[in-house]
Amino acid sequence: MNKKTNSIRGMNDYFSEDLDIWNKLEKIFKQVLNSYAYEEIRLPILEKTEIFQRAIGNVTDIIEKEMYSFNDKKGNSLTLRPEGTVGCVRAIIQNNLLYKKKLKFWYLGPMFRYERPQKGRHRQFYQLGAEVFGVSSIDIDLEVILLTNRLWKILGINLNMILEINSIGSQIDRIKYQKELVLFLEKHKSFLDKESKQRLYSHPFRILDSKNLDIQHILTKAPLLNNYINTKSLNQFNNLCYMINLYGIKYKYNPNLIRGLDYYNDTVFEWKTDQIGAQNTICAGGRYNSLIQELGGVKTSAIGFAIGIERLILLIKSLNIFSIKTEKINIYIIFIGEENKVHAMHLSEEIRDIYPELKIFVNFSNLSLSKKIKHAVESLSRIAILIGTNEIKKKCYLIKELETKKEFYLFKSELMLKINNIFKK
Ligand code: ATP
Ligand code: MG
Repeated sequence: MNKKTNSIRGMNDYFSEDLDIWNKLEKIFKQVLNSYAYEEIRLPILEKTEIFQRAIGNVTDIIEKEMYSFNDKKGNSLTLRPEGTVGCVRAIIQNNLLYKKKLKFWYLGPMFRYERPQKGRHRQFYQLGAEVFGVSSIDIDLEVILLTNRLWKILGINLNMILEINSIGSQIDRIKYQKELVLFLEKHKSFLDKESKQRLYSHPFRILDSKNLDIQHILTKAPLLNNYINTKSLNQFNNLCYMINLYGIKYKYNPNLIRGLDYYNDTVFEWKTDQIGAQNTICAGGRYNSLIQELGGVKTSAIGFAIGIERLILLIKSLNIFSIKTEKINIYIIFIGEENKVHAMHLSEEIRDIYPELKIFVNFSNLSLSKKIKHAVESLSRIAILIGTNEIKKKCYLIKELETKKEFYLFKSELMLKINNIFKK
C-alpha cells in the first residue's frame, strides 16, 4: 500500500458526532445574537502580518510564537488570523461602518495558532466572536455578559459555567502598577520559571497570566492592580459587578485576570468550567477602547468576546446534553438484482419530492442482502424497502420495520401514507 498523508498536527477533521452538536449550537447562537441586534460579518482568513503585530502587542504568546505567517509570491508577509477582533476592526474602518452607525457584529470561523495540541487546544480551532462599537458606558459590558449568560442558559450549561471578571483600568494605571509588580517579582525571582524571568522587565503582566501553579501561588501575595486603578474605572467596575449580581449571575472577582492581548482596558472577563480539564476557558472578552484609533480609525469605544467552539462542544458532550440519538438514515432502500436498481432510484426520488426532510439511502453496493439489512439496522433506519423482481411484478414493495422486525407488502400509495404516519412530527 502507498504511504498515506495525514493532516497537519492540531488541525482536525470533524464528523457528524461533533457537527450535529455544532449545527445546533450555531442555530442557537444566531437566534440569540439576532435578539440583541447583532449583524453577521464575514472576514478573510488571511490578513497582512503587520496588522496583528500593531494590534496585539509584541510580547504576547500570539505574536511571539503562535502565528502562522508566510510570504506570498510577491514577498508580502501574510498571517492566518489567530483571532477575529483585529480583522473585524480593520473591516469596519476600511468600510466606514462606524459612520453608518453599524455597531454590533458577530462572526464564526477558524482561527490558527501554533500551539502544543492537547485536549481543548488545537492549531486550527473555531471561534464565535462578537464585537460592539461606539458605546462607552458599562451598560454594554452588562449587556454582553447577559447575552453570553443567556446562551449558557439556553444550552443548559449555565450551572457549569462561572464568570470571572476584573478591571485592568487605563494604560496609565497599569504603568504605575507595573513598577510595584516588578519590585515584588524581583523579590521572588528564584521561584520564577525561565519564561517569566525573560518577561520580568519586558512585560511583567504576562506573568500574571502564567499557567505555572508555583507562580500562581506566589502571585496570591502580589500587589493588586485593583489598588492602582483610577476612581472612574473603579466606580464603573463596581457598578458593573453590582448589576451583574442584580441579574442573578454568579461571578468571581479575579484580580489576576488580565487577558493575553495588549489591546484591552477596563472590563475583562472569562467564562470558565471545571468539566473539561486544563483548557477551561470557554469564552473570553473585554473592552478595547484604543484599538480602533491604533489601527487608523477615529477614537471609538469597543467591547467584544470570543467563544471557543471545540471547548464548548467538549463541555456539552461531557454533560451529555443534546444526546438524543438521531437517526443517521430514515429510510433504507435495497434492490435485489441489478435490473431493479432503476426502480429503487425512482422510488427514492419520489419520496424525496414529497418528504424533502427525510434522509433516504439507496444501497448501490453488491453486498449480500443480509449484509445490507445489517447495515440498515446499524444506521438506525426505521424502515427498509426491498425491491425485487417479484415486487415489481406485483407493483408493490416489501417493507421491513427494523425495530419491530415486522414485514409486509404495500402498494406505492400505501407506502407513502405509511411514511407519513411514521415520520410526521
Ligand atoms: P488560553 O489561555 O486557553 O490560551 P487565550 O487567552 O489564548 O486562551 P483567547 O485569545 O481569549 O484565548 O480566545 C478566546 C477563546 O478561544 C478561548 O477562551 C478558548 O475557548 C478558545 N481558544 C483559544 N485558543 C484556542 C486553541 N488553541 N484551541 C482551541 N480553542 C482555543
Ligand atoms: Mg492562548
